[in-house]
Amino acid sequence: MTSDQPRQPLNAPAEITASLRRGRPILYSNPARAYHQAGSAALPAHRAGIEDARARFGRFAPLLAHLFSEVAPHGTIGSRLIEVPGLKASLGGDATDALLLVKADSELPIAGSIKARGGIHAVLEIAERLVLDANLIEDGDYRSLARPEVKAFFSHHEISVGSTGNLGLSIGMVSAALGFRATVHMSDDAKEWKKHRLRAEGATVIEHAGDYAIALAAGREIAAMDPQATFIDDEASTSLLYGYATAAAELAGQLQGAGVVVDEEHPLIVYLPCGVGGAPTGIALGLDAIFGSAAHCFFAEPVEAPCFLAAMAAEEDDLPSVLDLGLSGITEADGLAVPRASRVAVDIARPIIAGAFTVHDDTMLRNLFIAHRDEGLRIEPSAASGLSGPGMLRNSDGGRYHLASSGLGARLKRATEVVWATGGRLTPEYEFEALRARGESVAANPASIGDPDQGVCEDDQAQA
Ligand SMILES: *Cc1c(COP(=O)(O)O)cnc(C)c1O
Repeated sequence: MTSDQPRQPLNAPAEITASLRRGRPILYSNPARAYHQAGSAALPAHRAGIEDARARFGRFAPLLAHLFSEVAPHGTIGSRLIEVPGLKASLGGDATDALLLVKADSELPIAGSIKARGGIHAVLEIAERLVLDANLIEDGDYRSLARPEVKAFFSHHEISVGSTGNLGLSIGMVSAALGFRATVHMSDDAKEWKKHRLRAEGATVIEHAGDYAIALAAGREIAAMDPQATFIDDEASTSLLYGYATAAAELAGQLQGAGVVVDEEHPLIVYLPCGVGGAPTGIALGLDAIFGSAAHCFFAEPVEAPCFLAAMAAEEDDLPSVLDLGLSGITEADGLAVPRASRVAVDIARPIIAGAFTVHDDTMLRNLFIAHRDEGLRIEPSAASGLSGPGMLRNSDGGRYHLASSGLGARLKRATEVVWATGGRLTPEYEFEALRARGESVAANPASIGDPDQGVCEDDQAQA
């Protein structure tokens, strides 16, 4: 490295850990991506898995259209890709800057979040295996699976999952519609309205004292004792991952339809909210398979729960808990309130993604407010974290380092930035209004959070 090359502001794991511990927003540029050469060795297997998921969604589409009127007549689970000029201006972008788009998975049918893609796919894969073994599909018509005798057959099986809320909603709603028994293990601090909604859909909700990792482990253990139960494991399921990954082809089709070119000279920069890492890693994997190194994915996490960033920055075999870093793991972004990342996701994401950044809860609330004010979007706090991406890339020390060292800075004005809005549609009105009002007061008094999108504070710089 020559002396005029920029140095990663936070370099050694210990520096990053110290900075995370102070709870200040940072952007971490992933050094492992530099070694990534046109797809990893595992890419052919992943491509096959993603294609398999896409085909499965296609086979089940007529059944989904039959079971859920909101996806009739085609049965497709998809969302809008929208231009957001008002939001772009509020975030500090001007007309000469990169094109800013929002992928509105916050509006996805059935589950109202990005979990619709992964969760529904995982349930369909289980259902398909069972009905193929039992020879229950009539004349290859998947609508025949809505027959009462098939529902009765499914009712002998339980599908269980650990969830902070949205994965449970996705899996619970589709499992129940097919006739399965559905059990959702949640931490006791999960949002009340999500528990209510799940019970209303016919799912059994079991609450566990402690955080999400504890709920997940308990759910896994209980399901292991029941031969009729299948546990969809948020920390290990490739079925979830490939379901999420199908979003990449949808995005690619929408970009092409809008005449947006993506190649090395016209990079695609995508900001993905991250909990255990399954959803953003699935999408990053899908984008990698389509766009290769022209896609630059950044994961967004709360300052109190940056488990994925911590894992990326740690030694390869280390999977730190944010609790061990002295952080609370507690955040308004309930979908991201996860103490430890998924091993599977970290291993897949490490050679692929551009980096990860952290966001204050107050900044997420401000983002939620302006997304509603400027574009009429209804997103939940988790989903609002991604909106800090463009600012963090341009204004934080880590972001500036990334732009300079990767060469992305020189192509930034020709780039397309996509903020993935991951959830929100099912949020009750009173809940959304309370969050919106809090975001409005943060926006009216930005000094209360400092400059929210300046990545690194002075004492971080002094340390680096
Ligand atoms: C679950 C969730 C995420 C992140 O997904 P992970 O697989 O946990 O990383 C992001 N946004 C929302 C709204 C979610 O529910």
